[in-house]
Amino acid sequence: MVLAELGGSISRALQQMINATVVDEKVLNDCLNEISRALLQSDVQFSLVRDMQINVKKNVNLSDLAAGQNKRKIIQQAVFDQLCQMLQDPSGKPDQLVPKKGKKPGQVVMFVGLQGSGKTTTCTKYAYYHKNKGWKPALVCADTFRAGAFDQLKQNAAKAKVPFYGSYTETDPVKIAVEGVERFKNDQSNSFDLIIVDTSGRHKQEAALFEEMRQLSEAISPDLVVFVMDASIGQSAFHQAQAFKQSVAVGAVIVAKMDGHAKGGGTLSAVAATKSPVIFIGTGEHTDQLEAFDVKPFVRRLLG
Ligand code: GDP
Repeated sequence: MVLAELGGSISRALQQMINATVVDEKVLNDCLNEISRALLQSDVQFSLVRDMQINVKKNVNLSDLAAGQNKRKIIQQAVFDQLCQMLQDPSGKPDQLVPKKGKKPGQVVMFVGLQGSGKTTTCTKYAYYHKNKGWKPALVCADTFRAGAFDQLKQNAAKAKVPFYGSYTETDPVKIAVEGVERFKNDQSNSFDLIIVDTSGRHKQEAALFEEMRQLSEAISPDLVVFVMDASIGQSAFHQAQAFKQSVAVGAVIVAKMDGHAKGGGTLSAVAATKSPVIFIGTGEHTDQLEAFDVKPFVRRLLG
């Protein structure tokens, strides 16, 4: 099964339950087993899948339902609620995962993700979003691997009217990141409070990339590390996210390209792998096309 079909598999399992002549314990179990299989095949952790099963059964409790109550609707709602739960609060400590204004001056947010995931675009969107909320963001380009990365960030940043730092000649990403972060932190006249560091994604998962992320993180001590994923990555989401999580302390996920056809089924796996919540979704190529994550419409679309 391809992960992009996760939503479809869950919808099919629910549909079979809806089509059953009588909804009894067996039909409910079959439905939940089918959903569990789809989640497990998408690399969602076993413990989360087991909790989903237990919670749905607890919330539905077929034997207690009075005759005439719409069991099908109640089951559908219980599954929907559990999927929302799985996406919403994977660590139980969501408050610690997003920068809080005024908490600490010059908070540093480091973006990681594979090349092409939408990371550089999302960095500017994130800066622009926070600028409109009263923050004073600045951007640092620590991607020395991809030719053109600095120009891309520079152009995007200029459009968003956000100061940026980078170098055409320096090849050491750690040096650039440290210099950029220091420069913005020490800029007394502007008091930047949100320093966003774009990093290299290279073209695939490779040891050198993760080592670079580890060194960068050690050098700039980010307050938050954001993992950016492409909404269409499907089954590779878990391993991709896990590989980053093993090198740096990923604390949040942003799903880019949700405006395409992808339903974002890989998101559940990325959330499970990083134990971090989704904070935004990207809905287009433009700087203002970033939306705060809203779990219900997301799950509705996943199942739609
Ligand atoms: P990076 O290599 O991870 O830094 O990826 P980029 O930011 O360069 O993005 C790769 C491509 O995806 C570019 O053409 C972006 O314009 C595009 N992109 C990024 N985010 C979105 C999004 O939310 N929606 C759409 N449609 N395209 C996006």
